[in-house]
Amino acid sequence: MPRSSEVAALNRLRLAHDLAPLVIHGNYLINLASLDPQIRAKSIIAFRGELERARVIGAEYLVIHPGSYKDQSVEQGIYSFIEAMTEAVEGLDAGGVTLLLENTAGQGKALGSRLEELAQMRQMALERTSLRIGYCIDTCHALAAGYDIAHEEGLALTVEFLDHLLGLGHIPVIHANDSQGALGSHLDRHANIGLGQIGEAGFARIMQHPQLRDKAFILETPQDDGADRRDIAMLKQLGGSGQDASE
Ligand SMILES: [Zn+2]
Repeated sequence: MPRSSEVAALNRLRLAHDLAPLVIHGNYLINLASLDPQIRAKSIIAFRGELERARVIGAEYLVIHPGSYKDQSVEQGIYSFIEAMTEAVEGLDAGGVTLLLENTAGQGKALGSRLEELAQMRQMALERTSLRIGYCIDTCHALAAGYDIAHEEGLALTVEFLDHLLGLGHIPVIHANDSQGALGSHLDRHANIGLGQIGEAGFARIMQHPQLRDKAFILETPQDDGADRRDIAMLKQLGGSGQDASE
């Protein structure tokens, strides 16, 4: 668990850099949907630990992938995920942390590529736990899953889906990644902003969309050779004002 001196240092840096909200990402090895007894047990312990640490460091959001439904139907996978999550949070005080379920590209047996699956997970989790739950939408994953956010009509339709199925108010965070894989390819491969299938024009529409502008945008793009600074500058430029795209 982080020491109080470390938490204090983090809070000073957050203030100095105007970092809000603080969003952390769960360990990628966590698979709460797994039926393998060992993976399941380890995932439950690891997930509980992420929530505890998120609370201690004062993070607003913990992002987690719904996991893989290997050897199960999607419905069974969702059920397994919820069962394990319920077990993991038993008696836990999550403080001010909201759990965000991230949409996936649907690569392999990844749960959560369809927005309906995410909505069902949140609904079931709310019935069984006292966790606060919302969503994180990854632009690369959305395109790869078949939501055509690279084009004007596709983006309009997807925002409508997001609002009807998930509720835009429950989506505080967007992972801004371009996509190496094509629409519906189910390929989870991030590209730098403007250099993938969403492209500069696609990101300009996303960043300037009136219903998405107030979201926290986070990059998860390949980060070699100063590409992170270039991606941040690109998002700010495409956002129009140079002030609305927070890294
Ligand atoms: Zn992501």
